[in-house]
Amino acid sequence: MSTPVAYTDSGDVTHWIAGSPTAGRGAGVQTVWNPASGAAARRVRLGSEADVDAAVAAAAAAQPAWSALPPVRRARVLNRFLALLEDRRDALAAIITAEHGKVFSDAQGEVTRGIEIVEFACGVPQLLKGDYTDQVSTGIDNWTLRQPLGVAAGITPFNFPCMVPCWMFPLALACGNAFVLKPSERDPSASLLMARLLQQAGLPDGVFNVVQGDKAVVDALLAHPEVRAVSFVGSTPIAQHVYETGARHGKRVQALGGAKNHMVVMPDADLGQAVDALIGSAYGSAGERCMAISVAVLVGDVGDRIVPLLAQRVRALKIADGLQPGAEMGPIVTREARDRIEGYVALGVEEGARLVVDGRGCRVPGCEGGFFTGGTLFDHVRPDMRIYRDEIFGPVLACVRVNDLAEALALVNAHEFGNGVACFTGDGGVAREFARGVQVGMVGINVPIPVPMAWHGFGGWKRSLFGDMHVYGEEGVRFYTRQKSVMQRWPQGIGKGAEFAMPTAH
Ligand code: NAD
Repeated sequence: MSTPVAYTDSGDVTHWIAGSPTAGRGAGVQTVWNPASGAAARRVRLGSEADVDAAVAAAAAAQPAWSALPPVRRARVLNRFLALLEDRRDALAAIITAEHGKVFSDAQGEVTRGIEIVEFACGVPQLLKGDYTDQVSTGIDNWTLRQPLGVAAGITPFNFPCMVPCWMFPLALACGNAFVLKPSERDPSASLLMARLLQQAGLPDGVFNVVQGDKAVVDALLAHPEVRAVSFVGSTPIAQHVYETGARHGKRVQALGGAKNHMVVMPDADLGQAVDALIGSAYGSAGERCMAISVAVLVGDVGDRIVPLLAQRVRALKIADGLQPGAEMGPIVTREARDRIEGYVALGVEEGARLVVDGRGCRVPGCEGGFFTGGTLFDHVRPDMRIYRDEIFGPVLACVRVNDLAEALALVNAHEFGNGVACFTGDGGVAREFARGVQVGMVGINVPIPVPMAWHGFGGWKRSLFGDMHVYGEEGVRFYTRQKSVMQRWPQGIGKGAEFAMPTAH
């Protein structure tokens, strides 16, 4: 691993409109924290409706010329952006660690997963290739093509300030749209470095814009008549609000929401692998991942065998400032989020779950003001408990014990969320039955966090996704384009007079 260089910029985080940083017209500002030290690091400007108007106007003005470029020329801009991203991978990772708190190696991995979507978007000439039918009727040919929508907007969560925007804008731009990004106000700085890199890559000014802010900016984007499509990733209540409001304003919307991901461990699973998988996926990024495992479903005698092994590993987690070499878990993004997570630990005790490891009150030497909590492990959690039902979004693993596969599947399928799920087993028949029967969008067999690769598309089921298209992959291309069908004939076939019957092939 390369040595991280701490990100220390302390200037105000601005918007990026028409190719320039701008303070905008909104009066509000919000503190951006360094979660490891607990110190205020910077301030972010909170945009207003006027800032949204300015960004959308810049996007709408730039989009026609951008969409008129041959796709291969748009792809070349993205290719140069890809090279710049690779070059600045560690700079982006340092920004992420500074504002989000995740450990540096994890932040590097996040940037890499974002880069993979840019690689996919570079293939846009192939992805936009249409269908053609020669001679649908005598002398008539028919073809379909996909054209961009115009201005698209993206609203993103705090937990992946580089990767989740990259789920959206590279493909939107490649398809010929202009884009307005509204990043999370908790870790807004990565968006500005990406904006600068796009400009350096040769993207015309106005094609990519950033408006910082909160609900006011989101609601202005949802109501703006020039915004044709909205991609959202965040918590379920806001995803539902974005989906319903966007649809009411006639927009195309994909809104990805929260999660409660289960990992089923069958009695025939390799226990060592299952323990590694549970520890990495429940406590990596301090559990602040939409694909984190937060419920271990322990089948048959697995509970008695695995809980002591898990407890030992949770107690030994290396919790430190994410820039420290060897750190396995960094702080929580804000003090409020840390307090909310620790509130859930207290609730779990009240609800009668067995608290095996208590992460509350974690102190990290040298980082006494940081927003740290330790790993928490509960056993004998029941489905009626709120620590089972709610998304806690922190390093808290709930173990639920069941008798067999059927009970495990019924449990997973009854949950309101359906983002990711995993099953650890040594039996191919069990794996197949599980993958076919589970009501969840992304399934891992002996893979704890099955985040699909760039060309497969990402999306959950049930209340983890509002809308019908997943982000990135071919569904992403469909989301950011609309189909046009052209039917053509040339003069020698014309001139037979008006036809009043429904045309059919002849
Ligand atoms: P959040 O819902 O609080 O915020 C997401 C975005 O919505 C931010 O840009 C925020 O500014 C904006 N927002 C917040 N409140 C709003 C409101 N009342 N009206 C309009 N906009 C509002 O989510 P978060 O805390 O930033 O991120 C964590 C959540 O995101 C978790 O629930 C996690 O599961 C989810 N998430 C889901 C996926 C997925 O792919 N399904 C991926 C990453 C994160």
